[in-house]
Amino acid sequence: ATAAARAGGLLTVDLAALRHNYQTLRAMLNGRACAAVVKADAYGLGAAETAPVFYDAGCRHFFVAHLDEGLALRDTLPDDSAIMVLNGLMPGAEADCAAAGLVPVLNCLEQVAGWSAHAHRLGRRLPAFIQIDTGMSRMGLPEADLARLAAAPDRLDGIVIEAVMSHLACADEPDHPANAEQLANFRARRAWLPDAPASFANSSGIFLGPDYHFDIARPGAALYGLNPQPHLDNPMRPVVRLQAKVVQLRDIAPGAHVGYGWRFRAERPTRIATVAVGYADGWLRSLSDHGAVWMDGIRLPIAGRVSMDSITVDVTAIAPDRIRPGSLVDLIGPDQPADAVAAMAGTIGYEVLTSLGGRYHRRYL
Ligand code: PLP
Repeated sequence: ATAAARAGGLLTVDLAALRHNYQTLRAMLNGRACAAVVKADAYGLGAAETAPVFYDAGCRHFFVAHLDEGLALRDTLPDDSAIMVLNGLMPGAEADCAAAGLVPVLNCLEQVAGWSAHAHRLGRRLPAFIQIDTGMSRMGLPEADLARLAAAPDRLDGIVIEAVMSHLACADEPDHPANAEQLANFRARRAWLPDAPASFANSSGIFLGPDYHFDIARPGAALYGLNPQPHLDNPMRPVVRLQAKVVQLRDIAPGAHVGYGWRFRAERPTRIATVAVGYADGWLRSLSDHGAVWMDGIRLPIAGRVSMDSITVDVTAIAPDRIRPGSLVDLIGPDQPADAVAAMAGTIGYEVLTSLGGRYHRRYL
């Protein structure tokens, strides 16, 4: 049997939609560079398959979170692409980072010192991004350390600053006062390095307008079709389709219960389909009792709890001759985008996508 026939689920990634989304964002940037954030295996969709699509569309800046992600990506992408490691440099990682030609995002004075010392050891200059904390208090040099660096720029000896960057905490809420505050902080705190290119906007940040664009934007979510403006219609093209197969069908009588905890009780004669996807596949357990799947444009409620490898679905609304073991139902797709699944699960589309496990048969079309 083919891999598709053996698998319980099918994950289809639309590469043309990825390219379209990249081009859409880049067109908004008026000639500034548009990077691609491909951390967490490109938000669960496959960095090895998606990063080359962005490269072919003109992308030359790629962001990962971990050094190992960067090492894997380095083997995938041509040499003229820069790969930045957002989580920075763990102590002792300098040699591996430099040997692979990766660009660390230096987030604190220790990382600056480690990178400078390693450049000294190698006898050559090494590239880096410098991250400034502008109000998120997660990563990047706090204001006091930045002042120390500005007062003693020799701490940067051997380091070529490719860009100064910061990250927005509330860009998906355009009216949030944090946006203007972080922008003002970024302008002020990078002033001592006026010649270094700047990188500030994530996906939602691009939609905050040109003030937020600077030299290199860093979208992730919008590339993968998630809505960068949750309060408005999604301007991005959907990228992901997730389908899973019906394993078994049964007709149950009023009063019969379904699943762990007996949380679903049939009120009328009900047709239950057991579908081969569960929380081990990233179909989150918080979709129990109120999530849904789709078939033939009909919304089919999940009956009871999500199990590890399966869900039970009320398919009474589907004509009996339309559904049998092996039939596919849609979990993520045009009727129900990842953002909608996230809303049902009480989370964000990022978590839905990055939770997609390894058990699907994956197709890149
Ligand atoms: N820049 C940094 C530092 C990030 O941590 C992320 C992702 O969380 C991004 C850019 C991309 O953000 P988004 O996926 O919202 O576009």
